[in-house]
Amino acid sequence: MGSNPRTLQAIVGAPGVRGKKVAALSKDGLTAFIQSIISTKHEMKEPFYVLDLGVVMALFDKWARNLPMAQPFYAVKCNPNPALLGALATLGSGFDCASKAEIESVLSLGVSPGRIIFANPCKAESHIKYAATVGVNLTTFDSKEELEKIKKWHPKCALLIRVKAPDDGGARCPLGPKYGALPEEVTPLLQAAQTARLTVTGVSFHIGSGAMQFRAYREAIAAAKTVFETAARLGMPKMHVLNIGGGFTAGPQFAEAASTVKAALQEYFPNEPSLTVIAEPGRFFAESAFTLATNIIGKRVRGDLREYWINDGIYGSMNCILYDHAVVTCMPLARASTPRCKGARTYDSTVFGPTCDALDTVLKGCPLPELQVNDWLLFPNMGAYTAAAGSNFNGFNTSAILTYLAYSNPN
Ligand code: PLP
Repeated sequence: MGSNPRTLQAIVGAPGVRGKKVAALSKDGLTAFIQSIISTKHEMKEPFYVLDLGVVMALFDKWARNLPMAQPFYAVKCNPNPALLGALATLGSGFDCASKAEIESVLSLGVSPGRIIFANPCKAESHIKYAATVGVNLTTFDSKEELEKIKKWHPKCALLIRVKAPDDGGARCPLGPKYGALPEEVTPLLQAAQTARLTVTGVSFHIGSGAMQFRAYREAIAAAKTVFETAARLGMPKMHVLNIGGGFTAGPQFAEAASTVKAALQEYFPNEPSLTVIAEPGRFFAESAFTLATNIIGKRVRGDLREYWINDGIYGSMNCILYDHAVVTCMPLARASTPRCKGARTYDSTVFGPTCDALDTVLKGCPLPELQVNDWLLFPNMGAYTAAAGSNFNGFNTSAILTYLAYSNPN
């Protein structure tokens, strides 16, 4: 699977994409495409996203080349954009869903329930009941209370015990403080599952989102091996699923993360043809595929300082600055009215979001050329944990932001 014309055709016809216009981009064509959107929708000043499906295809290829043994289950929470989900479904991804609504959105694309893991260790009873109804039969747990709920509402569900991975201390968003059984909790939890006649088929972990210290994968895989051995000692059916979670980013460091995972699998799970390895990448597929275009709606000059207001901010797409500890970057969309962008003098600039809260500050100390009201600022790499967690604060409705689809040839 990957970036061949047949796959492109399939993606263009995929649910979530079908019926929408997909613009083919020439090299460096993204800004030209954005220009054309702005000029054809003349009065349009609202912010919008561009999703480059070519990037998604290239990333899927990259994953398959580097981690062929780990079947990706895209983490929908990262960005539930239907076109992204449809493209990933066509490429062959499974899906990590955290709620009933996420399961519904994936099923509505025609994805079979067997390609979904309900990867939330603490689920509402009504959501468990729903999963049972639609045949989503794989989930995670890390407490006895969760086992009791699953026993009651979905006793046939296969389970992965989520263990607290030795967190990557440098991860952008550590998940260890909230989820994962401690080493001393593993045996009692497995025994409780045994007593309840629930089937624990394997182990799950997440070293933290936006991971930086990849040895955490090795330590977590080693910890998982110990859990497999504990289950065997307790006389449980042989575990056969290892879920290595997310934490991956798509930059050059991906190769190092992947080779760390591969080496650890070799070391701790050698000669195990029956082992199924899955992963739950979110950021890896979503981050670089989306560019956000925002319009400058206000300006103030204070000496050498330039202050701009744009129509998306901290309460919208840029909530990632608060919740995902992201550092966003922007560039002006060079256009006829701002030809001075290239090589022009830059000013120390502040970029504010549109709401009336001073917290709504997107960038400070950013060198930008002199820009004017109605100019556009582009934010690349805005696909991960952005629109997904935005609000309607002050009437700026994040979920109303449109997404235009493009395709750049990755080759
Ligand atoms: N799986 C689970 C259970 C998560 O909680 C998350 C993120 O919070 C992910 C996968 C996706 O992680 P990432 O975006 O780092 O790949």
